[in-house]
Amino acid sequence: ALLTDGFRAEATIDLAALRGNLASLRERTGGPALMAVVKADAYGHGAVQCAREAVAAGVTWLGTATPEEALALRAAGIGPDQARVLCWLWTPGGPWEQALRAELDVSVSGQWAMDELLAAVRATGISARVHLKADTGLGRNGCQPHDWPELVARARRAETEGLLKVVGIWSHFAAADEPGHPSVQAQLDSFAAALAQAEGGGLRPEVRHIANSPATLLLPQSHYDLVRTGLAMYGVSPVPEVGSPADFGLRPVMALTTRLALVKSVPGGHGVSYGHHYTTPGETTLGLVPVGYADGIPRHASSAGPVLVGGKWRTVAGRVAMDQFVVDLGGDTPEAGEEVLLFGNGERGEPTAEDWALAAGTIAYEIVTRIGSRVPRRYL
Ligand code: PLP
Repeated sequence: ALLTDGFRAEATIDLAALRGNLASLRERTGGPALMAVVKADAYGHGAVQCAREAVAAGVTWLGTATPEEALALRAAGIGPDQARVLCWLWTPGGPWEQALRAELDVSVSGQWAMDELLAAVRATGISARVHLKADTGLGRNGCQPHDWPELVARARRAETEGLLKVVGIWSHFAAADEPGHPSVQAQLDSFAAALAQAEGGGLRPEVRHIANSPATLLLPQSHYDLVRTGLAMYGVSPVPEVGSPADFGLRPVMALTTRLALVKSVPGGHGVSYGHHYTTPGETTLGLVPVGYADGIPRHASSAGPVLVGGKWRTVAGRVAMDQFVVDLGGDTPEAGEEVLLFGNGERGEPTAEDWALAAGTIAYEIVTRIGSRVPRRYL
């Protein structure tokens, strides 16, 4: 397929696939509610578009990391009557009052956050919807077990004063993508203990939640009342060594396509790209692919990333540069404008985001999330 209309690159976002993935995840999990995790611009897929699609498909919970991301969803018209939006990554001085006015659900992991939240509640007169976060072993955000009873007691006091409602008790896994990892059962036990203490302390949360995508797919005992799915919803396998997206009834949502910007013949022994980390083994043709690390193509995939050109897989030749990289076309002479498929759902034989992750020594989360703002998104 040849295009000469100035097209450089685009990420197509298959919203029908997103809907299908949501339906598939719902069918798989049965009872629990589903939270569509749309942080980081919906892992590069477009937060507002994906959130709207999820809401239209009946999803009533959205999740973001920062409060700013959550506020942007409200600003785009996704109202509290349509979806609860939980944001969980707060820093001191965060926009608590705006969050209360926008009827966001907020996460509290410790005392400073409770101080700031209660001050905002008093300033606005708006009661807060809170999810108390327990650190059950991830060692990241969340309240440590020895501080948990005090946080629970304080939340309960504030609840009886009408300042807030503890809507959720929650946590996050360290290694749900390694189902046999000893931390998984330890975290489930710790979460059960945190829930028992919270209930003993008089809290009656509506939703208890700990499952991310790998836990949603592999650990039904972790589902509780709600599962928070990010990557799986975008049709990418969080556990590629366990199963492909298709194995889990999922379809990749994002495809990244570009066009050859130049095709030329070069002699053998010709160095290619910065540092000359690739040298042509003989006379050949080189194709210039006009996307680089500024577009999110990992530099670590130098001499490794796969692309499909003219029905054949080719490999990045030498270093990925900021705006472009080169592939050795092995003597083939497609015209400039020839389509280059970097990754997609694999139906045309192209690589997937998981293939790029493997080539770059990273995870597919990073591949899709980093596709830069210079690459336009086209919604199908
Ligand atoms: N919950 C929290 C707290 C997260 O930070 C994330 C993302 O890393 C998710 C859920 C979603 O994870 P996944 O993309 O594996 O579904």
